[in-house]
Amino acid sequence: MKQRIAIIGAGISGLSLARSLAPLAEVTVFEKARGVGGRMSTRYADPFYFDHGAQFFTARTPEFKVFLEPFIASGAVAPWEGKVVTLQAGKEEEKRLWFEPHYVACQNMNSLCKALAGGLRVVTNTEIAPLTARDSNGWRLCDGGDKELGVFDWVISTAPPAQTQRLFRGHLSDNALHGSAVMQGCYALMLGFRRPWHKKWIAARLQESPLAWLSVNSTKPGRDAGITCLVAHSSNGWADAHMDDDMAQAEAFLIKELRNVSGIDPHEADYCSLHRWKYAIAEKAAREVHLDPILQLASVGDWCGGQRIEDAWQASVRLLSALIKLTQPAPTSLR
Ligand SMILES: Cc1cc2nc3c(=O)[nH]c(=O)nc-3n(C[C@H](O)[C@H](O)[C@H](O)COP(=O)(O)OP(=O)(O)OC[C@H]3O[C@@H](n4cnc5c(N)ncnc54)[C@H](O)[C@@H]3O)c2cc1C
Repeated sequence: MKQRIAIIGAGISGLSLARSLAPLAEVTVFEKARGVGGRMSTRYADPFYFDHGAQFFTARTPEFKVFLEPFIASGAVAPWEGKVVTLQAGKEEEKRLWFEPHYVACQNMNSLCKALAGGLRVVTNTEIAPLTARDSNGWRLCDGGDKELGVFDWVISTAPPAQTQRLFRGHLSDNALHGSAVMQGCYALMLGFRRPWHKKWIAARLQESPLAWLSVNSTKPGRDAGITCLVAHSSNGWADAHMDDDMAQAEAFLIKELRNVSGIDPHEADYCSLHRWKYAIAEKAAREVHLDPILQLASVGDWCGGQRIEDAWQASVRLLSALIKLTQPAPTSLR
């Protein structure tokens, strides 16, 4: 009988792992959000669209480049090109150089995860509750309302470390799980204008400001360029210091700061919204992926050795080969 594997989380880690394991095992992916993507998600507010998490990704290793090849060939992933600047209140804008391709998924950032999810069993809108005792059949998973979701030989969490610790609490020591992984937060301010973008740059690094980054999402390939969709990210330090702030107050403050640093007037926007990422980016990564062959629990994510999309994918590759070594003589590679 094939091993029954539950993967918690439908971001790039969970879906790339599920795709590789699917021919070898009975795999089910559970995702608490309405759709797939995780921190590569897209927010829609017709006619506006915002990649409010990851803005782009780089491909530095030969393996990740190979993984991307078919997506680039089909146009599902494309380089995002244009002028990038540094902005600071009271100073002239300065041109920045990008020394490597910056890729985005098309038509939106979540499109890559949607493509990876094709043909897999993915159960969305389902938040897995902390695991109870493993019985002789395996791990019995339930949602928050105690509804049983199935019994699995293996449970693999791709949720950020604090959430994985909650899911696995009582079954492993926190330290054994993730060593020193520490995540930082981020606020994403989303602004939509019913007119095309009028400046020459596509993204800006913001300095001396609680805002760190500004992206013109409507300049990314495959998007509707007849409107303007802006995403401004706070610095991680500012987000952590203001994580419990009232959302309306945080939004008002960041709107003022955006105007100050960029000259863009958010009050002219036709759409404005703020999203809070509690666990956005790994400030300190865990040493490695976690795998317990006795309890048959594992966890993986960008925070296992890195903090970016490529790191998430790489960590999934390492977990896959560790899992395959346990059960099969020869490792295969992620496709
Ligand atoms: C604001 C921001 C900007 C970023 N910018 C960049 C960038 O420019 N370039 C770059 O390379 N990377 C960037 N990143 C990081 C990048 O997004 C991540 O490295 C990558 O998306 C992590 O993927 P993952 O699959 O490991 O985790 P996630 O995408 O976080 O996936 C984990 C999933 O688990 C789900 N989940 C959690 N708990 C449960 C539960 N109990 N039950 C069911 N599901 C659950 C979550 O909903 C989530 O979908 C950014 C991230 C953020 C937030």
